[in-house]
Amino acid sequence: MLDPPAGDPFGIDRFPVGCIVTDRLRTIRFANAYAEAQLGRPRDELLGLSIEALLTPASRIFCDSYIYPILLTEGHCDEVVLTVATGTGTRAPAVVSARVYGDNPDFVFWSLMRADKRDKLQSELVTSRNLLQKQARSLKELASRDDLTGLMNRREFTRMVAPLGSAANRSGASMAILLLDIDRFKAVNDTYGHQAGDDLLRQLGAVFAPLKRSHELAARYGGEEFIFALVVAEAEEVRPFARRLHEAARSVTGRGAPVTVSVGIYCCPPHSGQNLEYAVKAADRALYEAKALGRDRTMMESEGKLVPFD
Ligand code: GH3
Ligand code: MG
Ligand code: MG
Repeated sequence: MLDPPAGDPFGIDRFPVGCIVTDRLRTIRFANAYAEAQLGRPRDELLGLSIEALLTPASRIFCDSYIYPILLTEGHCDEVVLTVATGTGTRAPAVVSARVYGDNPDFVFWSLMRADKRDKLQSELVTSRNLLQKQARSLKELASRDDLTGLMNRREFTRMVAPLGSAANRSGASMAILLLDIDRFKAVNDTYGHQAGDDLLRQLGAVFAPLKRSHELAARYGGEEFIFALVVAEAEEVRPFARRLHEAARSVTGRGAPVTVSVGIYCCPPHSGQNLEYAVKAADRALYEAKALGRDRTMMESEGKLVPFD
């Protein structure tokens, strides 16, 4: 072991932590050099000052209502963050611990560390966490939306339809799946170009979206196909919705004649155990029939039969 150098080389003034002692009246009786520097007050100003004079009003209340009661019961209080008012008029966060010693409970020994950097780090951490959360939200949004129409994409629809089906089951309702395909859409592309086709899809997305209720689903299912999932007490309730789809499509005139669509519907009865794949296949058979019968119409598959449903 080396002998310490001469003088007071290990003295309390050399420690990089603020050390303060207060008496029973909370008056500061001792402060080391680091406390002076951290509090921005010369020692002769500190000595004789109440410790509360170093705190902001809120921290003063906290000190009174939390630190002192704990000191009385436990004898120590660790790592509380207070805001100190420095002699230069600034405010700074500080991590404070305090202790009373059994042999002389009149005195409280305080350690104080300014935590400006810690606060900065904390706020940087919060900022980057918020940014990450925002990015995660927009990534999720990107992964679940169809770029062109802004509706859900097929993946998201498939994910969301299961809970909708369960909710329908629970309330003894049916889940209706409607598959919609634009009539002679290829001709739009061929005549006016792919861009015009895209515009038409976009406009259709915009007129279809507001037709459903908030808990129901509307998605772009594929190229020029849209899909909807509704919860209904009976199949008949789907009829006005299907009609509105046709009307909405017709309201989009695009560059040529009003747009018409064909729709195929299948309703899964409650507790039928039929899944989306089953319902989509049945709706697709109905849609195929609607096309075969001349387009611009709705067909429904019901009890194995294809019936007009306009
Ligand atoms: P039908 O009435 O039988 O449905 O005739 P259709 O022309 O609509 O059907 P078909 O299946 O022959 O053609 C569909 C066309 O949709 C072909 C494809 O190029 C076009 N299409 C699919 N996705 C997009 C897209 O994202 N943008 C554009 N512009 N066209 C698309
Ligand atoms: Mg098609
Ligand atoms: Mg088509």
